[in-house]
Amino acid sequence: MAEAKRDYYEVLGVGRDADDAAIKKAYRVLAKKYHPDMNPGDKEAEKKFKEASEAYAVLSDPEKRRQYDQFGHAAFEGGAGGAGGFSGFDFNGADFSDIFGDIFGDLFGGGRRGGRANNGPMKGANIRKSIRITFEEAVFGCEKELDLILKDPCEDCNGSGAKPGTSPETCSKCGGRGQIVYTSQSFFGTVQNVQTCPSCGGSGKVIKEKCPKCSGTGYTSSRKRIKVSIPAGIDNGQSVRIRDKGEPGVNGGPRGDLLVEVNVSRHPVFQRQDVHIFSTVPISFAVAALGGDVRIPTVDGDVIYTVKAGTKTDTKVRLKGKGVPSLRNSQVRGDHYVTLVIQTPERLSAEAKEALRKFDELTGNTLNQNIGGGEKEKKKKKGFMEKVKEAFEE
Ligand SMILES: [Zn+2]
Ligand SMILES: [Zn+2]
Repeated sequence: MAEAKRDYYEVLGVGRDADDAAIKKAYRVLAKKYHPDMNPGDKEAEKKFKEASEAYAVLSDPEKRRQYDQFGHAAFEGGAGGAGGFSGFDFNGADFSDIFGDIFGDLFGGGRRGGRANNGPMKGANIRKSIRITFEEAVFGCEKELDLILKDPCEDCNGSGAKPGTSPETCSKCGGRGQIVYTSQSFFGTVQNVQTCPSCGGSGKVIKEKCPKCSGTGYTSSRKRIKVSIPAGIDNGQSVRIRDKGEPGVNGGPRGDLLVEVNVSRHPVFQRQDVHIFSTVPISFAVAALGGDVRIPTVDGDVIYTVKAGTKTDTKVRLKGKGVPSLRNSQVRGDHYVTLVIQTPERLSAEAKEALRKFDELTGNTLNQNIGGGEKEKKKKKGFMEKVKEAFEE
């Protein structure tokens, strides 16, 4: 038989009528005392920690606690006459972190996470700017310049902000940590609030005599012109990162980056989707009917495209490799999709009108003939022009 388990109430050192707060408080004390992080390599402490954790897991859950009160440990021993369904708690598995996630947050608050004093080296903040470029500049890439007011560490005080010859002193309010931990009691137990020290603003240091050049800020600002290389294929809303052109680092940390968001202007003819370009090109119905060459504008200049005889309106043409270069590999380009739209002539000379009437007669689609002929005749005669008309009427 396995080693008999101690009573959970006994493990936590609380009475059977202890409320949730008392149970949580008792567990916190034990968990802190026996936590493996506090007792590296101590097997006995680890065992005690697991025991306390298991007891807490059961007694902090109203349903499990009720079952435990009724059936004792048997309630959780897989089907052994217990209250059904409970398997043992797996303290090496996922249950472990689920149970303790909420407790460890504040248990080690300030020490374990988020407790970094602000006086270590820290990377400077990133600066965000935006820039507007044309459609073609986005397709082929471009070089731009950006005027920025950039901060630099003050040369006189080396960024300390203290008058040369003096140095900043450790903040007495926070002891140089830059943070103040407030502990308060709440329904859930002890809660720790970490706040930035109001006296030093989180730096951990106070300046008694300010550097006259930078007025104690530690920085001087100057206008700088920054070159921005926009890669071919960039799309609207994407950003270019320029390293080390952000705010200066703190306490010897590296500078932040400059992030330039690119806004691409709309093009009057081209639309873009990913690496592909779309446009619409009008063609006359004579060219559509007879075939012929049309001029198609692309980002590489005009392309002469030969339209086949009998082309319908809304015919799509793919111009391979005339799209946008891929950002990852500028050798790879998307395609340009052109929609050919047949134009109905609106202003016609008398001569052109006469030619059209003649054309209509020759193709057998005159109004007179339609009236004269029966339904069958009409259907049979439904020729090219009628189809074109239908297309126009849409
Ligand atoms: Zn302080
Ligand atoms: Zn200075």
